Amino acid sequence: MRCASSRLLAAALCLACASAFALDLQGHRGTRGNAPENTLAAFSRALAIGVDTLELDVGLTADGVVVVSHNAALDPVITRDASGQWLPPGRGPLIHSLTLAQLQAYDVGRIRPDTPYAKTFASQQGRDGEHVPTLAAVFDLVKSRGAPVRFNIETKIDPTRPADTASPEAMVQALLKVVQDAGMASRVSIQSFDWRTLRLVQKAAPAIPTVCLTVQSANSDNVHDTRWTAGLRIDEEGGLPALVKAAGCAAWSPNAGAVTQDLVKEAQSLGLQVIPWTVNAPADMDRLVGWNVDGLITDYPDRLRQVMQARGMAVPKPFP
Ligand code: MG
Repeated sequence: MRCASSRLLAAALCLACASAFALDLQGHRGTRGNAPENTLAAFSRALAIGVDTLELDVGLTADGVVVVSHNAALDPVITRDASGQWLPPGRGPLIHSLTLAQLQAYDVGRIRPDTPYAKTFASQQGRDGEHVPTLAAVFDLVKSRGAPVRFNIETKIDPTRPADTASPEAMVQALLKVVQDAGMASRVSIQSFDWRTLRLVQKAAPAIPTVCLTVQSANSDNVHDTRWTAGLRIDEEGGLPALVKAAGCAAWSPNAGAVTQDLVKEAQSLGLQVIPWTVNAPADMDRLVGWNVDGLITDYPDRLRQVMQARGMAVPKPFP
């Protein structure tokens, strides 16, 4: 009797600790550290490793198809043409200028070997024949695998370069249609550095959580530039977490180098989730998990699983 009740107590404590330390493990661009970024190969690999959420980026083709790509233009560092030639250095064709058929003639399954980017992701296993996928194809892949993962979808749009992409309105309208047609609205969050798109999502689909992305580094700052914050001013809102709250976001995703434990606490006290990006070193992962962040975005979900397991945390189920 005593034994049974202590077992029950242990089980209850275990449930409590699991929920207290629940962490949203997000595979960045699928899993850029292991497979060609933002391709079906990367999303498949991330499912096989085991993640809670697939992080991915979207743009719109000339014929209005939502596709998964980080850059507004094809990146010569990861792109070969139909004849197998690497694109010349410089800016490749804009995705917004190509039809889906034209876009999918390019191969994005490998990093050009003689580049610093290849050294950075030396463990990435290339796979020839991978094309820029449609968002609908990513949803189909996940359905076929039966994986209950979520999708954190980033609208790639730059208020300072309006000619490079679709308008915020066109992008959000097309994105929400694909999400709703796939029946995935309950499994999606939408994130952006350009908070105009988040405002549009909040209006058109209030049940879909929005995530305010921020960057504060030596080269970039979208926090103190009202073009990126949909007109909100940080000096009028009383700090960064308050700015994110005023933008109507459910979560805040800062670059990991710009976040402090105090800011994590302040944001969470405002009801915001905190999900730093892009955290690839196990020591950084462990420090941020220790700060009780709500999730982490990483190119190496396999490493984050090891960090979590070392702390006795439950990890997401793999779907090979
Ligand atoms: Mg992204």
